[in-house]
Amino acid sequence: MKIGFIGLGNMGGPMAANLIKEGHDVTGFDPVGVPDGIPAASSAADVARDADVVITMLPNGQILRSVADQVIPAMDTGAILLDCSTVDVDSARAVAQGAENAGLLAMDAPVSGGIGGAQAGTLTFMVGGTDEGFAKVAELLDIMGQKAVHCGGSGNGQAAKICNNMILGATMIATCEAFVLADKLGLDRQAMFDVVSTSSGYSWTMNAYCPAPGVGPQSPADNDYKPGFAAELMLKDLRLSQQAAEAVDADTPMGERATALYEQFVEHEDGKGRDFSAMLPRFSSRSR
Ligand code: NAD
Repeated sequence: MKIGFIGLGNMGGPMAANLIKEGHDVTGFDPVGVPDGIPAASSAADVARDADVVITMLPNGQILRSVADQVIPAMDTGAILLDCSTVDVDSARAVAQGAENAGLLAMDAPVSGGIGGAQAGTLTFMVGGTDEGFAKVAELLDIMGQKAVHCGGSGNGQAAKICNNMILGATMIATCEAFVLADKLGLDRQAMFDVVSTSSGYSWTMNAYCPAPGVGPQSPADNDYKPGFAAELMLKDLRLSQQAAEAVDADTPMGERATALYEQFVEHEDGKGRDFSAMLPRFSSRSR
């Protein structure tokens, strides 16, 4: 397929490289430059012209809206706009509507799996849009990832992503504060892991991404809390969850508390640039 790829940062760069490896004709645009090995165009509209699919991997919904305004008029009728960024549900739905009005197919397909998953081609895609669009992008999602779940109409991929990450943020905090309570009660961290990881408190944050160094499988905790999944990205996703909760009047007190704690950690403490599991040393250094 002829693919235009817009936004070639930490995630978009390796995703585009995987598409090229599988023989697709990819042209990229990014204002700060395109990684080696990816043919570059000089504007977003340039990569969109004649493309069968335009993929975007951008920082936020505002930038997505402005890029969509440039690419939609340049795209051929029937072409597909596939946004893989994590953005607010409203922006995803507005961009999809604009694309459909112009005779295009539009899909939102945010990812889970991080930079490692983007490099290895093992991302999970949560996809919103029509059955027709899902069938047409399936081949590309299969190259960039290991699983794609069709979640329903436009914006539902973003809805799934922020609900998942709201659980993730709240669960990481619960896991970290429990470790600190266990420490202060004199319980060995390995014993804590052995019990919780096989008991009703188990979770992905405990079992697969344990925030305590030297305990459980290798995780960013074993690498001085270098991300991994950065605390500021967790904060971004939690904020999106709270923006959505407010828009639809959903009561999400744990999501709200998790957002406030990550905001404190990233904006007023030393959380910026650290993995989101560095909440454990944060809680350790505090008293009640
Ligand atoms: P990044 O900042 O490394 O990459 C974003 C790229 O978009 C940058 O290279 C930037 O120059 C480019 N960009 C900005 N404005 C642009 C414009 N107007 N036109 C074209 N390109 C433009 O971020 P990332 O880590 O690659 O994340 C991209 C998206 O993926 C975000 O929405 C993020 O929330 C999501 N995400 C990231 C991770 C992760 O672990 N990094 C995991 C899951 C989802």
